Amino acid sequence: MKISSQINALLEKVLEFQNEIEALKRQVEVLEQKNEQLSTYLKKDEKSKSTGNLIKLYEQGFHICHESFGQMRDEDCLFCLNVIGRTDGFTND
Ligand SMILES: [Zn+2]
Repeated sequence: MKISSQINALLEKVLEFQNEIEALKRQVEVLEQKNEQLSTYLKKDEKSKSTGNLIKLYEQGFHICHESFGQMRDEDCLFCLNVIGRTDGFTND
């Protein structure tokens, strides 16, 4: 009797640990998801920052397109606008 009650107590402990491990696994999953969201967000932020710098250059009157990068421009350049994604109203597609 004593031994079987000890075994029961041990089994209860094991179940307790199993539940704890399951809960921890779920927490890890949630953290991994958050981590992924955060790194995606940071990557996006990095990209928009570099685009922001290009827009500044363009607004200062320089080409930012591959064709004439760094050269002064007199008027809007379709290639430049394409680089910063401002082709609205310019595309014929
Ligand atoms: Zn250009």
